Amino acid sequence: MNERGEVSGAGWGRWGTAEAARELPDGARRLLAQVLDLAPPPPAVPLDEVVLPDCALDDAVLDALRRAVGDEHVVTTARSRAWHAAGMSTPDLLRDRLGRPALAPQAVVRPADHAEVVAVLDVCSTHGVAVVPFGGGTSVVGGLTPSVARHVTVDLGRLDQVVAVDPVSRTATLQAGLPAPRAARLLAAHGLTLGHVPQSYEYATIGGFAATRSSGQASAGYGRFDDMVTALTVATPRGTLRIGRAPASAAGPDLRQLFLGSEGTLGIITDVTVRVRPLPAQSHHEGWRFESFAAGLDAVRRLAQDGPRPTVLRLSDEVETIIGAAGSGRSDGGCLLIAGYEGTDVRSTAEAAADVLAAHGGVPLGAEAGQQWARHRFDAPYLRDALLDAGAFAETLETAAYWSTLLRVYDHVRQALLDALPDGALVLGHVSHVYETGASLYFTVICSPGSDPIGRWHTAKAAAGDAIVAAGATITHHHGVGADHRTWYATEIGDVAVDLLRAVKRHVDPAGILNPGILVP
Ligand SMILES: Cc1cc2nc3c(=O)[nH]c(=O)nc-3n(C[C@H](O)[C@H](O)[C@H](O)COP(=O)(O)OP(=O)(O)OC[C@H]3O[C@@H](n4cnc5c(N)ncnc54)[C@H](O)[C@@H]3O)c2cc1C
Repeated sequence: MNERGEVSGAGWGRWGTAEAARELPDGARRLLAQVLDLAPPPPAVPLDEVVLPDCALDDAVLDALRRAVGDEHVVTTARSRAWHAAGMSTPDLLRDRLGRPALAPQAVVRPADHAEVVAVLDVCSTHGVAVVPFGGGTSVVGGLTPSVARHVTVDLGRLDQVVAVDPVSRTATLQAGLPAPRAARLLAAHGLTLGHVPQSYEYATIGGFAATRSSGQASAGYGRFDDMVTALTVATPRGTLRIGRAPASAAGPDLRQLFLGSEGTLGIITDVTVRVRPLPAQSHHEGWRFESFAAGLDAVRRLAQDGPRPTVLRLSDEVETIIGAAGSGRSDGGCLLIAGYEGTDVRSTAEAAADVLAAHGGVPLGAEAGQQWARHRFDAPYLRDALLDAGAFAETLETAAYWSTLLRVYDHVRQALLDALPDGALVLGHVSHVYETGASLYFTVICSPGSDPIGRWHTAKAAAGDAIVAAGATITHHHGVGADHRTWYATEIGDVAVDLLRAVKRHVDPAGILNPGILVP
């Protein structure tokens, strides 16, 4: 049994466990020491030593919750409550390391199935206790930290089964608490894959993907998670919705879209039916070098718009390419592009794409560069742990924009971050999710922590958020809104849409218990 609702192995105050810790490569460490003022952090407070106020729920509430899910599935230990108090943004990890996690739940409740989720919502509505649905706990936007102290976390870790597989239609119904690696194993037993591989793959869950409109590293080939969903079941305080009975429908607005991305504010998703595909017979990754980010973007756009489209398509800017090279020993300069292909005849697709890349100035770096990326595709969060351990601060943010404005958005956001961190910061960028009409932009910021790393980051992140909105881009492409992006989200969608969202919430959640302070402005 571990702290995170007994389902995953993630660490405390870090992404990975201590055993999985990784050292910063020497080259990267030297480079950082040259440009940043590293400040070794104080020793982290172990989870067992975190002190929280006692659970403030009275016995009537706790007894009703125990009746709903069974005694042993209502946990009030400080250990479990602290562990469920927040997600995995860098500020979350730093607060955990200081032994001061964000607002902890009064209890962690672990229903076994849809009926128990409904029963928990009933108890919480009756007693005015807020509810935070918890999947893998990997939110990086404050999506697990509500605005009220009187709340319980509903950990969905016991809903971890494949409910049904329809090989003819190529769909699978998956329970919401299934962690991605387990979903992949269970589907592979049927010769199928979801093809959804975000960098948080090791711990994130199916329900979390749906609730946040997640997008994975192979989105160029498999699409975003919300593209994959054909149906879903949602428990709300007003009753249950089962939405989606055909691959496509003209029966009114698509209500699936109301709940995809609703971040636990409109209901608890208990299962999701997704499109699945046969496990790919072949896979191949290769690297390409472009002289500049702008040149690489042109090539990426051509593949996204006119094809052939790789399964993975990812372009690093100059700084990300240099930092990656410092870690790996490569020093090709320019901008690294990774193209990955999965399917039955990857060679012919790769050759056709190679013609496009070469015609746009790309220089092939071969399969080793691609395999190197594939081998290390889940390393970044472990390297963040190592950076924090080394006394640096590292965090990410992302957006998306149309092709015609993408480079301008990139320049503005990058500059806003550099201006907000005047004593030196490395800002790394890449594009890794492409569409015919545009792409996402992802930024990693590495800077000195200073005496108030969280405050410094909030200032920098606010500057980036303002730059994103001013440039006409979206405040988030796949991380979601959470508590952190609410202000910019309200600006992005406008007053009428804010009122619409509030009205829907009032209808399905009249007592306002679902994730107060998250998403809905
Ligand atoms: C290191 C790292 C890398 C990441 N990389 C990616 C990436 O590549 N792509 C990407 O899209 N995201 C990424 N993320 C963000 C995060 O992993 C995703 O948002 C993910 O979808 C969250 O899934 P989860 O199961 O951990 O959800 P949680 O973090 O547990 O929850 C996220 C939000 O959804 C709500 N929620 C969770 N489950 C349910 C449910 N069943 N019903 C209703 N609401 C629910 C929660 O209340 C919360 O508001 C990354 C995060 C980290 C820390």
